[in-house]
Amino acid sequence: AVPGKSDLVIVYHRLPYEEFREDGVTVRRKPTSPNGIIPTLMSFFADGRAGSWVAWSIHEPEDGKFETHTEVDTAQYPNLVASRVALSKRDVDIFYKKFSKEAFWPTLHTFWERATFREDHWQVFLDVNRRFAEAAAAEAAEGATVWIHDYNLWMVPAYLRELRPDVVIAFFHHTYFPSADVFNVIPWRRDIIGSLLQCDYIGFHIPRQSENFVDVARGVTPLEVTTKMNCAPRFFTYGCAVGLDEMTTEIKVNDRLIRLGAHPVGLDLKRVESALKDEKIQRRMDELRLELHGTRMILSVGRLDYTKGILEQLEAYERLLDEYPDLHDKVTLMMVCVPAASEMAIYRDLQTQIEQAVGRINGRFAKVGWTPLQFFFRSLPFAELVAYYSMADVMWITPLRDGLNLVAKEYIATQGMTDGSGVLVLSEFAGAAAELRGPILANPHDRNEMVRTCYLALTLEREEARSRMREAYDVVQHYDIKVWSDEFMNAVDACRSGDSALP
Ligand code: UDP
Repeated sequence: AVPGKSDLVIVYHRLPYEEFREDGVTVRRKPTSPNGIIPTLMSFFADGRAGSWVAWSIHEPEDGKFETHTEVDTAQYPNLVASRVALSKRDVDIFYKKFSKEAFWPTLHTFWERATFREDHWQVFLDVNRRFAEAAAAEAAEGATVWIHDYNLWMVPAYLRELRPDVVIAFFHHTYFPSADVFNVIPWRRDIIGSLLQCDYIGFHIPRQSENFVDVARGVTPLEVTTKMNCAPRFFTYGCAVGLDEMTTEIKVNDRLIRLGAHPVGLDLKRVESALKDEKIQRRMDELRLELHGTRMILSVGRLDYTKGILEQLEAYERLLDEYPDLHDKVTLMMVCVPAASEMAIYRDLQTQIEQAVGRINGRFAKVGWTPLQFFFRSLPFAELVAYYSMADVMWITPLRDGLNLVAKEYIATQGMTDGSGVLVLSEFAGAAAELRGPILANPHDRNEMVRTCYLALTLEREEARSRMREAYDVVQHYDIKVWSDEFMNAVDACRSGDSALP
């Protein structure tokens, strides 16, 4: 492929702005909401750096002409272009909504028995990944950095390396990465690992995930570990299920060096700060105070997904109310459950089970003036979520498995900024458990521990709660989203110069 003009090519499934379809074909666009890491990735182009953002855009063959390149924001990022990969609705459905969610998502989160592996879907996945790689290859200048994101694009490095041996390929894995015992059930594991080994740098949230990758790779190809690093004090080395004392930072496969790093995604603290200052949000806090009727708030926030451990949490709450009648009238569990985007049967069943559990708990315990459980089956705007975070006495985040968990960090940021004495109860199977100091850790599979830790959080001395929160806030405040992206990019640049890759 002929080199393009961009020094940095971001390959992400979503565009950095939103597209709408009107009358079947018309495409209108507006800036994307400032959620997640998109603004951070865009900030690399704020100094006028030439760059491209490769993402899909839904386009049917009968729609006619398709613009492959669009500008993103000429005022702020004058040299950033979006390179759109035209995918039909069917492609997106199969590649993203079905296959990724039915085959890879369950396996990555260790629920491999729930996975279905379809060869015809894999072929679509390959085809889409190849098209992303071709677009990236056309954008990258000689020796450019191409930064690919997440498991939906696992096969892009393989195709890209073939087209462009000169570029530096970086990959960030946003989800959990399981151990070899689990990962190896994937029928195409050799292809996937072979592709990832074409990268120069691969980042995961925490050392455990990176080390799991090395283990899987070791089972696919002869591999030499050339550098290791001690994980402390940045990460927990023991004491939680996903802790690890040592991680591999460099491997050699067929004389090619591949560097690895652990980079837990951080927050944009300004978003939390501005939500806290917003008058509307302050009014929402006052309303919430009234809605709580003097009870203490336990808050749970997560997507409708079996990995998030919602049913297990509801069962624990029921047992908590059974075992501690002194809590009746005194606590309210507010549970925000964000509906799943796809209409998969597995999510429908889970939703039914959750609704039954919610009905049962309120049916058993509610009395005049007290509803023990308030369940919101919808997504709240981020700023409103901050109002909940600021009012929650206990934040209860107990996924069965989670790559990181940003909600936990957002709660800490909110409490930290308001000098709060809230208590975070966090699953030891969430990536964030390996990074954060201060939360009360819980094993969501241990029913007794779920009840005990929730009660402990509700009754913790204020001073201890404050000091735990300060410790956690130190981490969240220091390792923000800017530090995340800078550390990642510095590590990638070090690959280019042959310097030490250690952050
Ligand atoms: N979120 C939101 N509104 C909601 C619930 C969640 O904006 O009602 C946001 C939340 O602020 C967080 C993200 O969704 O930034 C969820 O990220 P997390 O890492 O916790 O879980 P994921 O859904 O990525 O597995």
